[in-house]
Amino acid sequence: MATKLVMPKLGLTMTEGTIAEWKKNIGDTVVKGDIIFSVETDKLTNDVESDTEGVLIDITIPEGKSVPCGTTVGWIGATGEKINVADTASKPSLKNSVISETSAAEVGEKSVLVVGGGPGGYVAAIRAAQLGAKVFLIEKDKLGGTCLNRGCMPTKAMLHTSEIYEAASNNADLGILCSDIKIDWPKVQGFRAAVVDKLTAGVQMLCKANKIKLVTGEAKFIGPKAVSVGADTYSADKVIIATGSHPIIPDIPGMKECKAVIDSTSCLELDHIPESLLVIGGGVIGLELGSVYHRFGTKVTIIEKMPKLLPGTDIELAELLKSKLERQGLNIYTDSTVEKIESSVKGAQITVKCPNGYKVFEAENVLLAVGRAPVTKGLGFENTGIIIENGFISTNEKMETCVLGVYAIGDCTGKIMLAHAAMAMGEVSAENALGGNRIFNPAESPYCAYVGPELAGVGFTEEKANEAGIAYKVGRFPTSGNGRSLVLGETDGMVKVLAGERFGEIIGVHILAPCATELIQEAALAIKLEATLEEFTQTIYCHPTVSEAIRECALNADGKAIHIPNKKGRI
Ligand SMILES: Cc1cc2nc3c(=O)[nH]c(=O)nc-3n(C[C@H](O)[C@H](O)[C@H](O)COP(=O)(O)OP(=O)(O)OC[C@H]3O[C@@H](n4cnc5c(N)ncnc54)[C@H](O)[C@@H]3O)c2cc1C
Repeated sequence: MATKLVMPKLGLTMTEGTIAEWKKNIGDTVVKGDIIFSVETDKLTNDVESDTEGVLIDITIPEGKSVPCGTTVGWIGATGEKINVADTASKPSLKNSVISETSAAEVGEKSVLVVGGGPGGYVAAIRAAQLGAKVFLIEKDKLGGTCLNRGCMPTKAMLHTSEIYEAASNNADLGILCSDIKIDWPKVQGFRAAVVDKLTAGVQMLCKANKIKLVTGEAKFIGPKAVSVGADTYSADKVIIATGSHPIIPDIPGMKECKAVIDSTSCLELDHIPESLLVIGGGVIGLELGSVYHRFGTKVTIIEKMPKLLPGTDIELAELLKSKLERQGLNIYTDSTVEKIESSVKGAQITVKCPNGYKVFEAENVLLAVGRAPVTKGLGFENTGIIIENGFISTNEKMETCVLGVYAIGDCTGKIMLAHAAMAMGEVSAENALGGNRIFNPAESPYCAYVGPELAGVGFTEEKANEAGIAYKVGRFPTSGNGRSLVLGETDGMVKVLAGERFGEIIGVHILAPCATELIQEAALAIKLEATLEEFTQTIYCHPTVSEAIRECALNADGKAIHIPNKKGRI
């Protein structure tokens, strides 16, 4: 007589399960101990073995469908045997399915627990799953982390709409006359939200496709490789920590009491375009959001306490960008410190210590963009033995912490606080956790600022090369000498190439030009492949393109540029 297979009850709290995969097809022979199907619950995925033998004669529940425990999901019998309908209605039993409730730790060398579902964490989880591991990804908020929900992607959606608005408003010189241009702010916000929703749903789908078990909740470490999430505990052979970062809230007198003060997340979600915005911090986030609102018509003032904008980037290009932004109408004060914030009728009154005395500004909103701090407090790291330095998790270049089998990646390590760096670290950590031997080299990771024009770079800046005592030569090429940049109206940028003095190996490339964030990939590849100036200059570039400026720049390093006079020193 045919024996039915039922949805097993795998734990005290399990009431239903999903058929994740049928491991046998109808007609396949089944022997005792064969895995017939796998079951997914909200905690685990388990293989179900047969304790009988015969042929799989029917599958009543397809893959992907959830049913209550005890429901008949298929039948094993003799070839050609008919199923007794009365049996299908009879009370199900677990007798026919031998289940062992495995914990992640029991899965063996291939279980990986990832804490944090931002670009570092979800990429690590996918890579680990690709390598055959059983992966648990714990996320307390929304998949995609800062990058997809309140960072890279929503800002680029707003940036795009602001650029379209600006282009529609300011193209009379090109013969395009638009009138009555208006901003439908709820639609602008709707577009931003739709981009975020699409991308986070995409990550969700990728996790499902890679059979990653998603756990929603806040993980607290109870041991080096064990966490609690609410009442449940999870452990694994390897753990990857990717808890990210949060905005730094500086201690400025009056700031907490002033309702006009916002962070980057609220700045993306304002219910109207502010008439004026004072941005504290002239780094990437402050400049990006400042220039987005400037394009929408807000009066924007940037206050930066350091002498230059965009610390860490090429100083010469950062200075060029500053003067460009000032010409566009942004007010920029460097070497200036905000001393106090008070509420005012307009929003906020801000007292700033500038190089030549105190200045008082008023603005509808004040954006705090002074940097980001790692999320490492209150997570039970004291139970792990990992080392935290200045708040960041300490790792080596393989992304290993000092605890064997525990890795940390992304913003919480403070190596490079950018999404593509977090993703790269994610891949490295997953591969190393599963027997690989890869390293993450920060020197190969580009930086990018989507301002106007874009700024991007990779490798040594002149300042860093000088600090390191490296003998180098430098090529410069202004975008005013590049036909495509002229057509695009972006003639006040520059490309800079740094190459070793002796062998001409590329050690750094910095670009202030349209699409710099796309062009920089060529330079990143050149550095990765240890290319030389000659390899740039002997490559044929499409014309007209902005990328031709990179080749001309490499030519200029040896005094051979074609489209500018080759002067010694700066152009
Ligand atoms: C406005 C803005 C614009 C940006 N633009 C760019 C850009 O254009 N390009 C770029 O490269 N970078 C950009 N960044 C930076 C980028 O967003 C971050 O570098 C990147 O998100 C870091 O990835 P991560 O995975 O390390 O951390 P995060 O993205 O911060 O993700 C960490 C995740 O861990 C979760 N988590 C934390 N603790 C726990 C816990 N205990 N249990 C469970 N889950 C937990 C969090 O909820 C979060 O989802 C921007 C950032 C901001 C704020």
